[in-house]
Amino acid sequence: MPVIEQLSPHVADLIAAGEVVERPASVVKELVENAIDAGSSAMVVEIQRGGMGLIRVTDNGCGIAPQELPVAFLRHATSKLRRPEDLSAIGTLGFRGEALAAISAVSRLDVISRQKGAESGASLHLEGGQPRQVEPAGCPEGTTLVVRELFYNTPARLKFMKSDSAEAAAVNAVLQQIALSHPEVSIRYIRDGREELHTPGDGKLLSAVYAVRGRDFALGLTPVDGSGEGVSVHGFVTRPLAGRGTRAMQTFFCCGRIIRSQMLTAALEEAYANRLMKGKFPGCVLHIDLPLQQVDVNVHPAKTVVKFAAERAVFSAVHHVVKDALDKAEQPSPPPKPVSAAVNPRGDFFQTMDAKTFREKGGAPTLLSGGKKVEPELSRRAALRDVGTAAPAVPARDIPVHAVSPGLIAPPPIPTGCKAPPLAGKIPEKPTAPPVRTDEEPPEQMSVEPLQAAPWQFRGEILHTYIIAEDGDTVWLIDKHAAHERINFDRLKANPEPVMRQQLLTPAAVDLAQEQYAALLENLPLLEEFGFTAEDFGQGCLMVRSVPSDIAAGQIRETLETLADKLLAGGADPAAARDAMLHTMACKAAIKGGWTSDPAELRALIARVQSGEVQYCPHGRPVKIKISKYDIEKMFKRA
Ligand code: ADP
Ligand code: MG
Repeated sequence: MPVIEQLSPHVADLIAAGEVVERPASVVKELVENAIDAGSSAMVVEIQRGGMGLIRVTDNGCGIAPQELPVAFLRHATSKLRRPEDLSAIGTLGFRGEALAAISAVSRLDVISRQKGAESGASLHLEGGQPRQVEPAGCPEGTTLVVRELFYNTPARLKFMKSDSAEAAAVNAVLQQIALSHPEVSIRYIRDGREELHTPGDGKLLSAVYAVRGRDFALGLTPVDGSGEGVSVHGFVTRPLAGRGTRAMQTFFCCGRIIRSQMLTAALEEAYANRLMKGKFPGCVLHIDLPLQQVDVNVHPAKTVVKFAAERAVFSAVHHVVKDALDKAEQPSPPPKPVSAAVNPRGDFFQTMDAKTFREKGGAPTLLSGGKKVEPELSRRAALRDVGTAAPAVPARDIPVHAVSPGLIAPPPIPTGCKAPPLAGKIPEKPTAPPVRTDEEPPEQMSVEPLQAAPWQFRGEILHTYIIAEDGDTVWLIDKHAAHERINFDRLKANPEPVMRQQLLTPAAVDLAQEQYAALLENLPLLEEFGFTAEDFGQGCLMVRSVPSDIAAGQIRETLETLADKLLAGGADPAAARDAMLHTMACKAAIKGGWTSDPAELRALIARVQSGEVQYCPHGRPVKIKISKYDIEKMFKRA
C-alpha cells in the first residue's frame, strides 16, 4: 500500500515554482509587479543571457524592513491579502504571496532593501529557497532583487529554455506590456549591458507608446477617449493610412491587465470599415475599464483571456469610441492611394547606374549578388513594372536593372511613368501580338525562341485580377496572383542556388511586435538564405541590409511581418519554418490582384498555366476556372 505523506515544504515550493516561474520573463513580471505594488516611480531591470544568467530589478518603492526580509520568501507570505473578504476585491489581480518563494526555490537570490525613511538597509541571500542570515547593508531607499542561475537545481526545466535571444525577447515583451499599462512608472530595461527600453514615467500613455513602439508607430496614432454603457475606452489607435500588415500591434488592456480578445479586435476593426486598405489592420493601445465584478479573468490560466458579463456593451463602447475618434481625425488629408497604384518606387535601393550605362556594360547585374541564380522570372518583370509606374519623383535611373536576369534581353530605358518592357523570349503565342519593343536593342541580344501558335488566345483581364483566355470552345478564367504565386513557390522550392539579393542603399530599420521580432531572430540564418540580411538592433527592431531582389523596398516590413506570423503559427519545426518562408516569398513576390498588369506579362502567365504546370496556388486554391461554351449557352437558355 502506498503511504500517504505530506510533501516537504521544499518539494512543495518546487512544484509551486513550476507554476509561477516558467521562464525568465515570468520572473521579471513578478518582480516588476512587486516593485509597482511597492509604490515605485522608477525601476531598472537588467538581464544577462536572456535572464538565465542574471535578473536584477532595482526599485525606489517602500522597501522591506530587515526583519521581514525572510518572511517575504515564505510561501503564502504577502502584505497584500489578509482576510478572506480581500480575495473577492483583489483576488482577480492575482496576489497569492507565492512569487518570491517560488523564484527563490529555483535560483540563487539576493535581496537588498531599505525602507522609506529608515537609517539603513539589510540584505539576505537565499540558495534554492534556503535563507542565510539577514545582514545590515548600506543601500538607497527601495529594493533590489538579484536572481542568478535560474533553474540551476531543476535541470528538467532548463531543457525547456529557448535561446537567450528568445528569452530576452520574451522579457522585453513583458516589460513593454507593463510599460504600456503603467505610464506613471519609469521603466529602464538593460539587456546584456545595452539599454533596450526606457520609458519616462511621466504618466502619459503616448510617451510610453513612443518609447515602446517607436517613433513611426507613435506618429501614426490618433487619441481615443470616451465611454458608453459603463465601459470607458481610452488610448490610441493608428490612423487608417498607418495600417499594419498584421494584427500584432493591437494591444488591449482590461482593468490594467493585458488581454487578447477576438471580440475586441472585431470591435476595433469594424470602426475602420471602408477606411482601411484591404489586407491592412489597425494597430492600437487601448485601455478598457469597467467595474471589476463584470470581468472574469479566471477563464484561462495565463489570464490573458477574459469573459465580460456584458459583451455587447463592451463591443459597442469600443466600436463607437474608436469610430468617433477616427471621424474626428478625418481632416482633409491626402487620400489613400488607389489599389492599382500600389507600387513601390524602390528609390532607396543601392542601384544608381542609369539605363544607358547599364546597356553599355552589357546588362551585367551590378548588385552584390548572393548567387548566380538567373531566371527569366515574371517577378522580376513585375518589379520593373512597379518602377515603371512609380511616382514621377523617381528618376528613371532608379530602375532596379539588377533585378533583370542576364540572358534575357537587356532592359530598354524605361521612361518614368511608362509601362515596363513586355516579356520577351518566351511567349508561345500567336505572332499576332508581337512583343512591343521600345528601344533599339540589337536583335542578336534577344534569346527569342521561335514563336509558335498557342492553342489559346488572350482576351483580356477583368477586375484587375482575372485573366480571360479562350481556347477553342472553352473560356478560362485565371487568377493572376494565385498563378504567379504558384510559379514563384515552385521556383523557390526547386532552386538549389542562393537567392538573388539586393543591397539596400540605407539599411531599413524595421520595428516589429515582440513575438514577431523573437520569431525572426530565431530564424536569422533562414532569412539570410532567402536573401534577407538582417541583424538584431534591439528593442524589437531588425536592421535589414539586403533583401531578395523579388521584394520591393516598400514591402520589407509587411513581408517580415507576414513571415513572422507564419513562423509563429508553424512552431519550432525547421521544415515548417522553411515552408513559411517559401509561402511568404512566393506571395510577396507575386503580382497582386488589383494591380494593373502588362498584357505581355499576363500572356506569359497564361502560357505557364495552360501548359498544365500550374494547377493550384500554394494554399490549395484553384488557379484557373473552366467555362465551356455549353455552360455559357445553358446560362443563356440556348442549350
Ligand atoms: P505578493 O506580491 O503576492 O504579495 P510576493 O511573493 O510577490 O507575493 O511578495 C511577497 C511580499 O514581499 C509582498 O507582499 C511585499 O510585501 C513584499 N515585497 C516583494 N517585493 C517587494 C518590493 N520590490 N518592494 C517592497 N516589498 C516587496
Ligand atoms: Mg508579487
